[in-house]
Amino acid sequence: MAPEPLSVMPATSGRLAVPLRRRWTLWSGLLVGLALVALAAWAGFNASVRQGTDSLRAEASHQLDLFAQVVQGLVRRLEPLPGTVQLAAEVQALLQRPDAARVATAAAYLRRLNAHLGSASIFVLDERGQVLAASDAALHGQDLSFRPYFLEALSGRVGRHFAIGLLDGQPGYYVSHPIHDGARVAGVAVMKVALDPIDRAWDKLGAPALLADSNQVVILSSRPEWRYTALSGAGGLSVERRVALQTTRLYADRHIAPFPLQVDLRIDEDSQVIEALLPAGLAPPSPGGLLALPSPPGAPRGMLVLGRTIDGMDWRLLMFADLGVVREQALSHALLAALATASALMLALLVNQRRRILRQKLSAHRELEAQVARRTQALSEANEQLRKEVAEREAAEATLRGAQDELVHAGKMAALGQLATGITHELTQPLGAIRTLSANAVQFMDRGQHEVAAGNLAMMARLADQMGAIIEPLKGFARKSSARPAVTPVDRAMRNALFLHDHRLRREGVAVIDEVPPGLCAWCDPNRLEQVLINLVGNAADAMHDAPRRELRLWAGEVGGMVDGMVEIHVSDCGSGLPEDVRQRLFEPFFSTKADGGGLGLGLAISRDIAREAGGELEADNAPGGGARFILRLPVPLPSPPNPLASSPSP
Ligand code: ADP
Repeated sequence: MAPEPLSVMPATSGRLAVPLRRRWTLWSGLLVGLALVALAAWAGFNASVRQGTDSLRAEASHQLDLFAQVVQGLVRRLEPLPGTVQLAAEVQALLQRPDAARVATAAAYLRRLNAHLGSASIFVLDERGQVLAASDAALHGQDLSFRPYFLEALSGRVGRHFAIGLLDGQPGYYVSHPIHDGARVAGVAVMKVALDPIDRAWDKLGAPALLADSNQVVILSSRPEWRYTALSGAGGLSVERRVALQTTRLYADRHIAPFPLQVDLRIDEDSQVIEALLPAGLAPPSPGGLLALPSPPGAPRGMLVLGRTIDGMDWRLLMFADLGVVREQALSHALLAALATASALMLALLVNQRRRILRQKLSAHRELEAQVARRTQALSEANEQLRKEVAEREAAEATLRGAQDELVHAGKMAALGQLATGITHELTQPLGAIRTLSANAVQFMDRGQHEVAAGNLAMMARLADQMGAIIEPLKGFARKSSARPAVTPVDRAMRNALFLHDHRLRREGVAVIDEVPPGLCAWCDPNRLEQVLINLVGNAADAMHDAPRRELRLWAGEVGGMVDGMVEIHVSDCGSGLPEDVRQRLFEPFFSTKADGGGLGLGLAISRDIAREAGGELEADNAPGGGARFILRLPVPLPSPPNPLASSPSP
């Protein structure tokens, strides 16, 4: 047998594919969202760093420019002045013949000049480099021929450089001018400018800074430990340079260590960003911010190095601005950008979800509307159908009522038929008497006995009234009518029924025990109550036809309470009673045990219908003393509302 194709496989994989695809979409969406957030953070960080660095650079540059001008002003302000020293007569005289008096005069002049200009010292050297006269007396006689400023001036140029004073150990800027005697350089005038004001001004920069001379040696710095270090690379100064420095003793035999930070700012560069380990306490305190995390000690910090060359000198001014704050701010901005992007993504997600839910709701609403319309249509159709059925039922009920009325009438006619014999007999007697009386009256008239004839006629009239009284109930009973309930006195209806059976009851010697109280009323149609009673009395008489004792007991009374009270009428006989099989079928139409067409079998069926139509019931059982007992129950008439006029006093 060929194997069945595995048709289950695609369905199963299809079922699995849906959640898998959904999960894959979810994860990929999440990853894309995270990537976007990270991208936003990265872009925010970079833009902020760039912008922060730019603004830091602009601010620091401005400060550095100002500072450079201050430095330049301080240092170069007095630069041309040593050139004027040669003009002084005291100096000229000293160089021509340096005796004690001339030295004293020249020294006094130099002291005055020094005090006037505010320089550190001014002195004059002879062509061998010996101090001839000086504002500072301690310098007299010193040999300074090894100093570069002397050598420069001796060769006819202006010499200027940084150096530490050999006697006082104070750093200063030395400017030298040759003193000419004709074309020959006869001596050298030197001025030392103190650099203390620069040292005092570092604080204004608000960041670590240094000033390096033409040898790339840091001569001044806001950081004392940076002083007398060489910027020229990790190895520090070359051996030749060291030897030269030792010769010129520019730094007064101090050891020149390499500069601790890796700065490689070219002369044509304004700024440079470096990552460097700062000595403890160098970085300014963080101003605080969203992410003002202090850098761990020992971690390299980003620094912006700005450099300026002092105009006309080879000196470099360097400033080290801390980028930590910029980076901390950039971190805050990155976080903000990430948050903003995440929020925007969440918002977009929410809006999208809301739109989806709205769409779903809308379609559910439409479906609901369609359902409601369908239901409404079905309901109105059902309603129409119901209305039709109600109309049909009403028509059927009317037909039924008509048929019932016909039936009741037929029953009535049947009862009348049964009564006909008795009634005929009742009428026969007065009729015969009238016939005899009228024949006699004619004879009495003929004989002229008019009074006797008048007596006969009066008797005839009484008999005619008697006959009328017999016929009168029949007329009312035989009338065809629909049921019209009214307050019906039970004793009157019973009397009429007995009257119609009177002849028969008397003939058959039936004793009537009438226990119907006068004044008892029921709520029913009087004519139909009579019909039922005629039927019951007639049946009782039939049942007792062959009975040795013939007693018809009639009883009526009110039973039950105020609310469910009923009028009960009992018709009991001493007849054959009701065997069970008969009792079961008593009220079936056309059920009759009367032989030879004695009964139609409709009487009890119609009587029960009449009782039920009036809101009552007809039941049958066997009487305790033998015979049958029929119990007719009818509603009690509602009490009529009290008449307000009845109790009001008469006017
Ligand atoms: P019909 O009198 O034409 O037979 P009814 O419907 O009046 O029709 O009565 C049905 C049957 O009920 C009677 O044939 C009779 O067998 C039984 N029946 C009615 N009344 C009595 C009664 N009082 N005693 C015994 N049987 C009765």
